[in-house]
Amino acid sequence: MAKTRDQHINKIKKTHSWIVVLAFLMLSIVQLVVVAFFMRAFIDYVINFKLLDQYDTMVYMAHIYETEGDSPETYKTLDISEIDYLIKDDDGTILYQKGENTCGDKEYPAASFNDLSTLNIYLDTDNNVFYINQDNIASVRYSEIYRQLIEYTMEHHGENLVNGRLPLDEQFNTLYEPSSEEEREEFKNTIGGAVYLPLWLSFDIGDTGHKLVGKAIVTIDLNDWMMILGYLSIVVTFSLFVFIMILIIVFSNFHNSRRTLRIFFTDPVTCGYNWLWYTHRGEHLLKSRLRAKNNYAIVNLVFVKYRNYCVCHSIPEGEKLLKAVYEKLSSQLGGSELLAHVTSSNYALLLKYKTEEELKDRLNRLLESLKAVNDAHEHVFTFQAGVDLLPALHDGNGRVIRRKRIDIEDEYNNACTARNSVANRDESCVAFFDQKLVEEQKWLDRVEEEQYNALANEEFLVYYQPKYDPSTDELKGAEALVRWQSKHLGFVSPGQFIPIFEKNGFITELDHYMIRHAARDQKKWLDMGLRCVPVSVNVSRAHFVEEDLAEQIRDIVDSEGAPRHLIEIELTESAFFDDKNALLHTVTKLHEYGFAISMDDFGSGYSSLNSLKDMPLDVLKIDAEFFRGENAKDRGKVVVSETIRLAKSLDMRIVAEGVETKDTVDFLADQDCDMIQGYYYSKPLPKDEYENRMKPVKAPDTEAVAAAPKKEMPAADPAAGTGQTSQENLK
Ligand code: C2E
Ligand code: CA
Ligand code: CA
Repeated sequence: MAKTRDQHINKIKKTHSWIVVLAFLMLSIVQLVVVAFFMRAFIDYVINFKLLDQYDTMVYMAHIYETEGDSPETYKTLDISEIDYLIKDDDGTILYQKGENTCGDKEYPAASFNDLSTLNIYLDTDNNVFYINQDNIASVRYSEIYRQLIEYTMEHHGENLVNGRLPLDEQFNTLYEPSSEEEREEFKNTIGGAVYLPLWLSFDIGDTGHKLVGKAIVTIDLNDWMMILGYLSIVVTFSLFVFIMILIIVFSNFHNSRRTLRIFFTDPVTCGYNWLWYTHRGEHLLKSRLRAKNNYAIVNLVFVKYRNYCVCHSIPEGEKLLKAVYEKLSSQLGGSELLAHVTSSNYALLLKYKTEEELKDRLNRLLESLKAVNDAHEHVFTFQAGVDLLPALHDGNGRVIRRKRIDIEDEYNNACTARNSVANRDESCVAFFDQKLVEEQKWLDRVEEEQYNALANEEFLVYYQPKYDPSTDELKGAEALVRWQSKHLGFVSPGQFIPIFEKNGFITELDHYMIRHAARDQKKWLDMGLRCVPVSVNVSRAHFVEEDLAEQIRDIVDSEGAPRHLIEIELTESAFFDDKNALLHTVTKLHEYGFAISMDDFGSGYSSLNSLKDMPLDVLKIDAEFFRGENAKDRGKVVVSETIRLAKSLDMRIVAEGVETKDTVDFLADQDCDMIQGYYYSKPLPKDEYENRMKPVKAPDTEAVAAAPKKEMPAADPAAGTGQTSQENLK
């Protein structure tokens, strides 16, 4: 679960960052392509445009040469142009030269002027702005152009410019005096107000066989520079726009992902954090290296009877209260401690602690502060806390180690188990988890897993514990007690499963089962001609919420064909503290239907003498505790004899339970106690052994003597305690 949850949360986080990264990459690529495309197109335009200009001049010069021929006058005319040039004859001998000859030796076909097949290009030996590409074609080295542009601007700041241009060659002496030949060269390279890009173009001059090789100079001046700046500002604006767009996307994604996570982690009732946040954040805290030295406690805090409060005051009122509880708890948390509302009445906390005692005090104070959380209704509320401790871990050398393998949900489950162990208490309290609780929980799960199959497969056996008249040693009755011979769990005594069934409600099924089997057995024994005595069956208090319980019992007994007076219903004393009217109603009806009713375990709790007065009870069973330890002494005896007297005066029969010694039997016989049910006479017996204790209806006296308990070996009851057997007592 923890893994799935984290994957889910990471998915939310990742989805958003991926969108951002993708958007960013795509926009950057688009931007780069656009910038590169326009830059290149622009430079190409400037260079081609300017080169063509020079080219036109040279075509014109070649034309003049062709018409005027090779003469000093012709050269004089050609010299008027600003272009440096060479005239070569068919052998390549230079006939005339203007300016310095920096024409390279290697000849390249020109790609840009493909309509002139005779045009060749020679690189300038002083210049590296052009380069030769794979196809042997001269191309512009763009980076070099940019570099020169920048250098130039840095150096001149435009102060020597006239109308955005530097004066041409013939004027520069008046404006600028170069101090050396290098300086002059450098200036020449910036002639025209900007970058100087020389390239030698070669033409065949008509049919003369001569060639004109002219130095074309491409200059990029301030106007071009301004255009570039303008263009750059467009690019920068566009880039800024793209950057802002990306920022907006990043921000909104971040904002959205935070909002989604906030919704994901918010509890709608308390507006605080929810379980998902608790597990996610909590696991992070617990596993963190920084916090490994802290002792942590995972707490399951439960608002007991929250549902009752909702029933009395409406759900919105209940939710207000949950919110108030959350806020109260939240105000008492320290740094790196967590709180979340898990479900309606459950809160999860992660607290730091120093010692168990200190934590217990703190939790008790916390619960105390919650008791009067809502003054409006002046209620005193009950809260319970289950705690699972996670102390800091240490290695062999006493160094703190990280809790790497912790699963917060497992730990919280332990805290819940601890709190469950006190769930039946009606007060605010704190319970700590220990391994015993796990064993109990495991057992509970196994029992609950098995219970229905056990009932269907009749794994529950009815044992009968006889009740004897202490004056005559005659069999007067029996109590049907359940034993579970489980296929998977082995032999299980009632103490191990009755409390579980009472909690989960399965006890009602079991009680019906017991009544049916007891009635069935009685009918069988009657048919066998045995002298049957009433058998009492335990009916749990959980039953008494059912209005038609008396009818259900009547129908079960009738359907098995057993006489109703042979089945007695035992109610524990504690049942008399529940809904009295419902109990009285059912008891009265049962009584009317012909069933005897007995009050079990009388004197074990807070005896309600009133119940004796109000209820039509037939039998009073004095609790076994009266015959143990101190209770069995003088003062206890007084209570027992007075109880017997009271019952007699109310016309009730009396059964003493759990009697193990001859002294007690004698004492009870003296007090005129009607029946004794205890190990002195017999442990609870399997059906067939109990059957052997019953006399036939018309048995000769000798048989009756033979059936008397003191002459029989009692059957061993695997679930019974350590009381002496009747056989031993007889010795
Ligand atoms: P209980 O109804 O008070 O049953 C009497 C218990 O005392 C029985 O324990 C019995 O074996 C034991 N006992 C009788 N005489 C002596 C004695 O001399 N010494 C000692 N040490 N113990 C004696 P058991 O059978 O283990 O049953 C325990 C409880 O489980 C019962 O107490 C009853 O509350 C419950 N229970 C048993 N069977 C059923 C059932 O079918 N339905 C319901 N609802 N509860 C049952
Ligand atoms: Ca009983
Ligand atoms: Ca009892």
